[in-house]
Amino acid sequence: MAPGPLVRLWAELVLAKRQQWNSVFAQDSEKLSCSIGHPPGSGPDDVAKENLLEVIKRKRSQVPLEMFHLRYLSVTDISAQVWCEQQIVYRREHPNLLLPENTALLDTGKSIHLARELEDHDLVMVHTTSQEDSWAIKVLNLLIMLRILQAGHRVREFPVFGVLEDIFVVGIIDQLGYTAKGELELNELKTRNQASMPSASQKKRDYFQVFLYKYIFDAMMRGCLTSDSFIHHLCLRPEQPLGPHVQEQAQRAGFTVGCFHDLLELLFLNLLLLEIPPIDRLQIEYIHQETGTPLGTEVLAYDQNDVRAKVQYFLAYWKGQRDPEGVDVEDAWKCRYCAYSNVCVWRMGESRKPSRKVERVQVKE
Ligand code: SF4
Repeated sequence: MAPGPLVRLWAELVLAKRQQWNSVFAQDSEKLSCSIGHPPGSGPDDVAKENLLEVIKRKRSQVPLEMFHLRYLSVTDISAQVWCEQQIVYRREHPNLLLPENTALLDTGKSIHLARELEDHDLVMVHTTSQEDSWAIKVLNLLIMLRILQAGHRVREFPVFGVLEDIFVVGIIDQLGYTAKGELELNELKTRNQASMPSASQKKRDYFQVFLYKYIFDAMMRGCLTSDSFIHHLCLRPEQPLGPHVQEQAQRAGFTVGCFHDLLELLFLNLLLLEIPPIDRLQIEYIHQETGTPLGTEVLAYDQNDVRAKVQYFLAYWKGQRDPEGVDVEDAWKCRYCAYSNVCVWRMGESRKPSRKVERVQVKE
């Protein structure tokens, strides 16, 4: 089968929706965030903090996935729990508190990723009119890239979908390609503000992110994903006709589809018929943001049982089966750099239960 055109589709609606969600969370937490960042023990701030803690406690009585109106999680959501789960929760509750310097770092990192992506293919903006259209773009990208991979070429920004512990999870793999020995290799690009390799704690988070990509990719290739995974978890309408721009892009890629269900059928047929191996090699490439200088490359040792255990542990929080947990005592230094340290219940010792901690992701150096 000939590979499709070297493009990646980009849905306008996805961006618009994401902004809407951000705005909803921002409104919801506007009152909560007012006292954050002020030093403790300063009168009215203490009252505001007490109120904030009360609101947080009330919110925590709900299942987190429902509380945050989430139909799915991303790989980065889950891998961020490796750093500090409590921080992830605060970030959801106070999304407008992302520090300006962090935003700048993220933007620079995105630009570098985009530059790399454009080395391989163009981005095509596609106008979408429904949720199904937006997801169709993701599925189309996957279909196009599967054919390129099957033809033995490299792909960038490869989408993966899976259902882990009954939660739909999505991810974007930076790069997949074949080594000289014919092994399928995943390469994750990490940009660094400092011109040095990351600390062991940062590596743990990066490693787990890459492990999750392989975990989901391999399951997807084994046929673990079904049409119902999309329809049920994402509440999509299978018979929804796809918009004209989406249909046009599908046709350009060589697919004739009328509704979302047609596209899903095509995806599962391709996953069944294409002979793409599991990922053999996992590596992370660290580069300096400012200069683009390579800082080092880490090759990872994968342990599926270990990844599965950690997935179960991390997702148990999202399903409301346990409370969020902050950092271990030996990682308390992270709190000094955390925007939520003034209000963090974990840091204040209100919910510290060290015995419940599971062993964190092992760093193999
Ligand atoms: Fe996590 Fe510490 Fe921040 Fe609390 S203060 S969210 S425990 S890093």
